[in-house]
Amino acid sequence: MPLRLYNTMSSRIEEFRPLRDNEVRMYACGPTVYDYGHIGNFRTFVAVDLLRRFLRQSGYTIRHVMNITDVDDKIIRNAARDGVSVQQYTSKYLQAFLEDSALIGIEQPKLVRATEHIPEMAEFVAKLVRKQVAYRTEDGSYYFRIAKFPQYGKLSKKDFQGMLDGARVDLDEYDKDSARDFALWKSPKPGEASWDTVIGPGRPGWHLECSVMSMQELGESFDLHAGGEDLVFPHHENEIAQSESLTGKPFAHFWFHARFLLVEGEKMSKSLGNFFTLRDLVLKGHKPSAIRYLLTSVPYRTQLNFTFDGLKQAAVSVERLRNFRLRLGAGSFPAGANPAMQSLAAETVARMTAALDDDLNTAQAQGAVFEMVRPANAAFDTGGVRRDDVPPLLAVLAKFDEVFAVLDDDDGPKMKRVLEWAVAEGREKDISDELREAVQSGQLSDADIEKKIAEMKAARAARDYKGSDAIRAELTAAGIIIEQTKEGVRWRRK
Ligand code: AMP
Ligand code: ZN
Repeated sequence: MPLRLYNTMSSRIEEFRPLRDNEVRMYACGPTVYDYGHIGNFRTFVAVDLLRRFLRQSGYTIRHVMNITDVDDKIIRNAARDGVSVQQYTSKYLQAFLEDSALIGIEQPKLVRATEHIPEMAEFVAKLVRKQVAYRTEDGSYYFRIAKFPQYGKLSKKDFQGMLDGARVDLDEYDKDSARDFALWKSPKPGEASWDTVIGPGRPGWHLECSVMSMQELGESFDLHAGGEDLVFPHHENEIAQSESLTGKPFAHFWFHARFLLVEGEKMSKSLGNFFTLRDLVLKGHKPSAIRYLLTSVPYRTQLNFTFDGLKQAAVSVERLRNFRLRLGAGSFPAGANPAMQSLAAETVARMTAALDDDLNTAQAQGAVFEMVRPANAAFDTGGVRRDDVPPLLAVLAKFDEVFAVLDDDDGPKMKRVLEWAVAEGREKDISDELREAVQSGQLSDADIEKKIAEMKAARAARDYKGSDAIRAELTAAGIIIEQTKEGVRWRRK
């Protein structure tokens, strides 16, 4: 079954097929690099990452582009406040965004920066003026005349009958219910970043950036355009108006929007004290893999209520999957195959794929894997898992992880980097004991631990009990729990 995906444009779930061959051309609105990214931003970015990974698993090649908004009202204001250039100001947060994306297992799309495409943006405005859908105001700014685009509102389903022709707004974001001619290009105000171009000096509006860079990278019509639900209006509506006025062709075929994340049932806000960046959570000692798992545990179109209980639960889920995989890798199994295990593995793959094909139902896909792990774990203890059952069971986990990307344990080194960052920023007081402990136990990779356990076993076999106890004590001190079972020594991280 092909992927079925909700399309905000049609308000329906549709079969997804690329417009051209086997290649998916997708564009996601990226961050405005004026601060560290919060977990709401990363809910959307992880949802897009999951879509990308699943499309690839489904056999498509992917051309995925994301913009970096590195000039806008907030950036200009903050850079001026700190007495640095826009470039200096944004490079810190762009770097932080790249690190955070890697922290949470996001595969890097091709990144395009607004400030590196200014001449093309000015050229685009000039063409809109020639088509008489844009106009220049006295101060040298340019606006898009929405009355010239009768389909304005088709994505957000807003009815703008009786809108005020010529009423203008020059903010990047504006009132959700009013239609206004929006700024394509802003003339320079004293002290603001500005570029000299064919349409005069100034800087691009936010909406223009995405139209220009997406079409430059992906063509006038491409497969999918993504972002958080707040971008439907005005941002994406304005992108459509600009792009389709210019080309006369449909801009993006599918519009993919992730629902907003709440924290403990409330809208995330600094004033409520429930606002968390990704780094805040790691500083509290939470593993990046658990955060990623939690962000994908609810389908992207369903409201995700982020809670600390939920985060702890997600960590337990990841640990159970990792331990299951370790058991499969380390145990010695009786020869042969158990038909029940063979069909369990095959059914799980089918259920997982069907769930993701169904508008990326991640909750069901995760559920399917746990419904395999539960009986398979029980079967371990009764000899019901045979040697030939191991590869198909491992293959299910591998397939799961191509999309969810939480099974390889690299939390330790990642958490260490956040700890080092906090020290470098003078934020020692924000480093929790939990983070310090986790970093200590994460110093050892899985391979290091396996090696030490082999040494411990060898020492014991040679009756060097002092030696084996010393290795055991070293592992315990590093937060590794060792258990003696029927299948031999098993270990897990605390
Ligand atoms: P920004 O850096 O504010 O432009 O946002 C980057 C991305 O994060 C956009 O796609 C937003 O729609 C998305 N976003 C912002 N807040 C949230 C939230 N609370 N939940 C989900 N996505 C969000
Ligand atoms: Zn955008």
